[in-house]
Amino acid sequence: MTTITPAIIAPINAAQQAQVLDKTQATLALAERQYGRQFTAIPVLFDLRGRCSGMYRVRGKERVIRFNPHIFAKYFSDNLATTVPHEVAHYVSDCLYGLGDIRPHGEEWRGVMQVFKADDSRTAAYDLEGIPTRRQRYFDYRCVCQSHRLSSRRHYKLARGEVMYNCRQCGENLNFVAACQVGA
Ligand SMILES: [Zn+2]
Ligand SMILES: [Zn+2]
Repeated sequence: MTTITPAIIAPINAAQQAQVLDKTQATLALAERQYGRQFTAIPVLFDLRGRCSGMYRVRGKERVIRFNPHIFAKYFSDNLATTVPHEVAHYVSDCLYGLGDIRPHGEEWRGVMQVFKADDSRTAAYDLEGIPTRRQRYFDYRCVCQSHRLSSRRHYKLARGEVMYNCRQCGENLNFVAACQVGA
């Protein structure tokens, strides 16, 4: 018998989002002191999906930092220490030099990362098990006591009869209910 662990990592909660916003503001304030100028406050969204922890997006005049709330949930302190300064450094180097004139992770960006005393190696080896991909199918199951959401990998293993999953609470077998798709 294999008992199941939750298939999908829950996103960070409101208190953690507030911590990320504080860290973003504090990092930007550090840049303002270092470079002796102001940077317009940048909107932060928690809507990123897939394998990236963060993204700096420019569309016309709009500038946005996006964070992945699932990867942050799984590796919170590491993302606070590296991903937040990483994306703020993209924004600051854009303001200082213009993105069109520099490489994304070139010396200008690395210089800003040094101001932040942040790790610029960009090689976080995260295990992304449980992180929803951009288009991930989920399969809903029920036992006697509750519903369970399985990843497609687990669903197909179960369907092929390679494994048996039992509910951790009631010990009963899981019965397939429905397939659904989540994500952009
Ligand atoms: Zn980057
Ligand atoms: Zn159960």
